Amino acid sequence: MTTKKYEFNGCTYCSGKGYFQLLLGGSETCSCCSGTGKKKE
Ligand SMILES: [Zn+2]
Repeated sequence: MTTKKYEFNGCTYCSGKGYFQLLLGGSETCSCCSGTGKKKE
């Protein structure tokens, strides 16, 4: 019996959003996925 973990397919750095929400307002593009929100291969 195997338990399958939930696999997140997007960028774990920005939670697949492609950007970070800044505390002071606005957003910054994620440098890890270049704003695509996708995980690097
Ligand atoms: Zn990212």
